[in-house]
Amino acid sequence: MSKRKCALVTGITGQDGSYLAEFLLDQGYDVIGMVRRTSTVNFDRIRHIQERVKLVPGDLMDEVSLMAILREHRPSEVYNLAAQSFVPTSWAQPVLTGEVTALGVTRILDAIRMVDPEIRFYQASSSEMFGKVQEVPQTEKTTFYPRSPYGVAKVYGHWITVNYRESYNLFACSGILFNHESPRRGLEFVTHKVTYHVAKIKLGLADRVPLGNLDSQRDWGYAPDYVKAMWLMLQQDQPDDYVVATGKTHSIRRLCEVAFGYVGLNWEDYVYVNPADLRPAEVDLLIGDASKARRQLGWTPTVTFEQMIELMVEADLEALRHEQVHVRA
Ligand code: NDP
Ligand code: GDP
Repeated sequence: MSKRKCALVTGITGQDGSYLAEFLLDQGYDVIGMVRRTSTVNFDRIRHIQERVKLVPGDLMDEVSLMAILREHRPSEVYNLAAQSFVPTSWAQPVLTGEVTALGVTRILDAIRMVDPEIRFYQASSSEMFGKVQEVPQTEKTTFYPRSPYGVAKVYGHWITVNYRESYNLFACSGILFNHESPRRGLEFVTHKVTYHVAKIKLGLADRVPLGNLDSQRDWGYAPDYVKAMWLMLQQDQPDDYVVATGKTHSIRRLCEVAFGYVGLNWEDYVYVNPADLRPAEVDLLIGDASKARRQLGWTPTVTFEQMIELMVEADLEALRHEQVHVRA
């Protein structure tokens, strides 16, 4: 009988970690999820699978914990999704962002190198590395020009992954994923901020929504599609780096138009620009070329931007209605 595959997911309590854990369970993996110590539990995104995954304490700030997890659980694949992932926070906490999002990658790569260099490794790189874009659309070969401490930290994480592959022959892959969203996206990111406020306004629970730059454009995909690409990268014969994107870009204005339009409202009646939501340096335009992922991984997105925004609005409406029923009860 063949041995069950075992995967370690850092960042399992986050958006992508929760979808990836579901996907790996469906593939028959034993899933180990690394969670950091918090004073209150934050398992909202994984509650439905909590009994099927093994949660173990650890932190990207602490290499001892990483080594102990690898020694005890002997995963064959490690998906490093943990990060300080919100761009504005990276200006407020640049050193912490560097420690976790940049040096954290070295800590886990080095733990792999020492404990079991046969482990296959996935690093969650980001389109934010392209920042002030040097080419349109962006590919695996496009020069990086990050525009935030987060982007800078991700560039470090990307290159240390490439370096450990070349220095120690590790099976280490970097997925350069463009923005991807879902009902599980953090509420501070613009898609979810907008869909949540649309639902609140529709239900009479809010009047307006403050936003920052309405002109920036993003290549937004659907998170469950994107976690599949992570897994596909680790199933190849050779480790490599891949852009994962839809190839379509939309402005924040268009996002508002789609989200408000879905519930029959005109976005311009509700959105106002709040200077506090503007950034010190902006990434104006992201649009990815995922030809390599399509060709080599056979990966393709299945949900359009409009479908995704509509399903996010629906999910927010449902959650808020549910909350209201509970408040009344
Ligand atoms: P989230 O912010 O939803 O999740 C981040 C996860 O990292 C959480 O589980 C968080 O734990 C964990 N974490 C934070 N700091 C530490 C630490 N010091 N040690 C251990 N765990 C920690 O991010 P997403 O799921 O959206 O993204 C997953 C990864 O992909 C991230 O690295 C992100 O930067 C990257 N990425 C995301 C994109 C996107 O559009 N979503 C695009 C490109 C890259 P806790 O719950 O305790 O806070
Ligand atoms: P990012 O691409 O990882 O920074 O993802 P975000 O969802 O945080 O931001 C995407 C874009 O939306 C950026 O260009 C932001 O400047 C823009 N944006 C405009 N208003 C807001 C807002 O109120 N919140 C956030 N998070 N972004 C906003």
